[in-house]
Amino acid sequence: MAVTRVQKRRIKEEAGNRCAIPNCNVTSPLDIHHIQYQENGGSDEDDNLICLCRNCHGRVHNNDIEDISIRTYKRNLVLRSARLFPHEVPYLEALLVGEQIELDEETVVQVRRLERNRFIRIQHLRRNDVYRLSITQIGRELIE
Ligand SMILES: [Zn+2]
Ligand SMILES: [Zn+2]
Repeated sequence: MAVTRVQKRRIKEEAGNRCAIPNCNVTSPLDIHHIQYQENGGSDEDDNLICLCRNCHGRVHNNDIEDISIRTYKRNLVLRSARLFPHEVPYLEALLVGEQIELDEETVVQVRRLERNRFIRIQHLRRNDVYRLSITQIGRELIE
């Protein structure tokens, strides 16, 4: 697995095509950094990637910028760039107040984007062939 070009473009866009470190604002050259390092099992999924300028990227790897800060910046970027579609809002609101939502295979496609963005989890209950939704912490923050 590797980070695809489409992904790189998406991660850069998420940060506004500039370094994700607040007050840096450098726009080139930009690198894609693995928040959890690959050698420590960090994945190539979007939620583990952040756009940094070459200079800040070096500082992160030298531990001049704390890991916890990077995680906070990433979290803020995700929340800021998440524009909810109108049909997605009722699902999140219902989950927030603890309603149990189970969808069939046809309707579950409506919430796959929420799952990709890690705002909900979808569990396939094979016995009844339904998909049960649950909200994640970041999904809560988004809708609260
Ligand atoms: Zn890196
Ligand atoms: Zn920078």
